Amino acid sequence: MVHCPDCETSLETADDIEFVEVDSATGFIKASKRSYTANCAACGVTIGSGVAGAKSNGGAA
Ligand SMILES: [Zn+2]
Repeated sequence: MVHCPDCETSLETADDIEFVEVDSATGFIKASKRSYTANCAACGVTIGSGVAGAKSNGGAA
């Protein structure tokens, strides 16, 4: 079980976590990756982050 480090709400379901897409606003990566941050739905603190699409089927070397 995961608890929010800030407000200690238990994060048990997807409803307790808000996934926010972070587009490449920073611009230092030009790839078409999409980053996400996972935020506590109760207090909004960022709990974690991830990248979607990094392991898509484009594995051609
Ligand atoms: Zn919280």
